[in-house]
Amino acid sequence: MPQHVIVTGGAGFIGSPLTDVLLAAGNEVTVIDDLSSGSAAKVPAGATLRELDIVDRTALDTVFEEVRPTAVYHLAAQASVTASVADPGRDCSVNVLGTLNVVDAATKLGAPLSFTSTGGALYGDDAPLPTPEERIPAPLAPYGASKWAAEAYVNTWSLSAGVPHAVCRLGNVYGPRQSPHGEAGVVAIFSEHLHKGKAPKMFGHGTPTRDYVHVADVVGALIAANGNRGTFNVATGVETDVLTLWRVLKAAAGSEIEPELAELRPGELKRSCLDTSHTASVLGWRAQVSVEQGLRETYAALVEEFERAGA
Ligand code: NAD
Repeated sequence: MPQHVIVTGGAGFIGSPLTDVLLAAGNEVTVIDDLSSGSAAKVPAGATLRELDIVDRTALDTVFEEVRPTAVYHLAAQASVTASVADPGRDCSVNVLGTLNVVDAATKLGAPLSFTSTGGALYGDDAPLPTPEERIPAPLAPYGASKWAAEAYVNTWSLSAGVPHAVCRLGNVYGPRQSPHGEAGVVAIFSEHLHKGKAPKMFGHGTPTRDYVHVADVVGALIAANGNRGTFNVATGVETDVLTLWRVLKAAAGSEIEPELAELRPGELKRSCLDTSHTASVLGWRAQVSVEQGLRETYAALVEEFERAGA
């Protein structure tokens, strides 16, 4: 049955294709976003955009009361590790207080929520690889700390009110519509540099590893998780180093450029790879897109986007 769904952060990289899929399934979708890192152009036609800051409780409650959603996807966040190091107070306001506001509003209406936490910035450098959800987090940056605190509110509200909220700990997400202008999103950044024929900076000399997961797979996991209580790693379980990622993109671009090597930035992990067996057994979800195929397709899609934008 069609539902009225709220997607916070629906003007962003992951929220935008999530909104597309929810609309295609016949849902009405209201996007809540302050457009601080997203853009109105990314909000799919057919969705309603309500521009507000999730820290503003009064404005948020007004929209929830009007829409009375039957499901909520909470993606709006301060999503930059380096911005969290520069301004941990703002990171905490948006990611902790903002999440408390959203989870409280959803819970009062009995609407199950899928929350996007981080798998890549939570477990720390000493975790076993691939890392299972039971591992006690040891984040290296305020961003990981604020997501961990926010998870606690999601879980506590779920348990105390009996509404099944899900915490999805995402690996490093890549795919079309990712902005190349942030400090993260290495696939989009490398793709833009390759497209322009410029050498990118490669932090950690190309050795750091990540669990790169395609955005289409993430969208599927967030939908599969909605209505389930628990914590779910959302990734591929495959560890890929930055140099390998660069080589695949470089081959897709047919380029001969070499990157400029640089030290790892503060708050960045050396290695990350997530164990997804719990997610597979409870949600029946597994990543479908291989890193190699996903990177090649993403490069082609991003180049089209850069050319449309005149980049
Ligand atoms: P994004 O920056 O493209 O999207 C975040 C959206 O939230 C943007 O549209 C932004 O304008 C909006 N927003 C930010 N602060 C807001 C506020 N105070 N009020 C209302 N809207 C606000 O980032 P993304 O990559 O699409 O990330 C979506 C979610 O997934 C975030 O919660 C992020 O922490 C999480 N996540 C992303 C990754 C990744 O690799 N991209 C990995 C792990 C977790």
